[in-house]
Amino acid sequence: MRVALHTLGCKLNSTETAAIERQFRAQGHDIVEYGSDADLLLINTCTVTEQADVECRKVVRKGLRGAPDARVIVTGCYAQLQPEEIASIDGVTAVVGTTDKLKIVEQLSDLLSSETVTVRVDELSSGTTFIGARSGNGNSRTRAFLKIQDGCDYSCSFCTIPLARGPARAMSLDAIRRELQAIAVEGYQECILTGINLGEYRSPDNQRFANVLAMTADMDLPYRIRIGSIEPNTLNDDVLRIWSECSNIVPHLHMPLQSGCDTILRSMKRRYNTSMYRERLQTFAELFADAGIGIDVIAGYPGETQSHFDETVQFLHSIPWTYLHVFTYSERELTPAANYSGAVPMNERRERTRILRAQSQKRTSEFHQQQIGTERMFLPEGYDVEARAWTGWTENHVASILHAPYSIEKVRMNVRLVEVVGDKVRVEPIEVHTV
Ligand code: SF4
Repeated sequence: MRVALHTLGCKLNSTETAAIERQFRAQGHDIVEYGSDADLLLINTCTVTEQADVECRKVVRKGLRGAPDARVIVTGCYAQLQPEEIASIDGVTAVVGTTDKLKIVEQLSDLLSSETVTVRVDELSSGTTFIGARSGNGNSRTRAFLKIQDGCDYSCSFCTIPLARGPARAMSLDAIRRELQAIAVEGYQECILTGINLGEYRSPDNQRFANVLAMTADMDLPYRIRIGSIEPNTLNDDVLRIWSECSNIVPHLHMPLQSGCDTILRSMKRRYNTSMYRERLQTFAELFADAGIGIDVIAGYPGETQSHFDETVQFLHSIPWTYLHVFTYSERELTPAANYSGAVPMNERRERTRILRAQSQKRTSEFHQQQIGTERMFLPEGYDVEARAWTGWTENHVASILHAPYSIEKVRMNVRLVEVVGDKVRVEPIEVHTV
């Protein structure tokens, strides 16, 4: 069969789509571009995106325009939460929840055999098993993503993820070791450890995230490791100590804040307050000079008054970071926050988003300026044909551009950061390590 796949949402979803794609290829199916003629369309959905239903319909329609006779399977978080809504979309053949997502290829003939829409969505319970996934960044094969944890046992008031992905569960240490070795054999130069709540990693035999890092440090891997987003209350001293002792794990932290106001953090049911956040962040920044530090913030959460928002802005001024991911709050069905009073008018949410994004741009460009003249390890990822340049990241998360021919793919190199060009820094090679 010719199979076309499409992903909505986060990196974890993309990693899982890539794993499904590998399974299809292994079974002898051809993978074709989404929107072209195909026999089967597979859509991996998300609930975090605004108007998940509208987006899902749009993607199904787009797929069927290019492949009017194709069968359509819809999976992912939105499929788990609203299966009936998806089943009612014209052209859908099967709806598969998150537990069976990575078994679609195995169950294919069964899923496609019925004349009516097949809905296969299990209830998520504490017995839900972990299914690992790994992906790479296309042809350049520089960065691999390894999902080592899934699900979340927290109950943040704005979040649908625990409902869509179920309880926290994780890959065993042995399985992680095997995956990391396979990534080395395949020649990747970086592996990003990902999960929904990575810091809550707990293997079936009770190993914690610090044990994962310790094992990684012992393996003497030929590539660098990047840690995905981690909750502040899980960035404990053990994790920080091992991280700082292992030269392979890059100095880049992504730690959600969501609000710099304790009243709002309490309402969000986050498991930290601003003083804990500040302490954890400052400890990290003292251990890792020049680290890239990213922070998630939500603008316009219900009940966020102007003075709460001002507190967030002030708090952000007072702590070290290098970029923000700013999300405009939007009501998510099935979450407690959707029913809270004090909704912030949408134009005000957008204005607060704009203010935070401007703050982020300013801080990032100051960080880039400070990095000029330093030497870093650059990993080329994508090629900009027009600019004849590679774009990629340094270990401390500086978006970089290197003018060079396409043929430098699959190398990492020591570079000097020479000048700021727009939102990137131009780098020049000092030494190249060929794989
Ligand atoms: S920690 Fe909170 S925001 Fe993150 S996945 Fe869990 S419930 Fe959602």
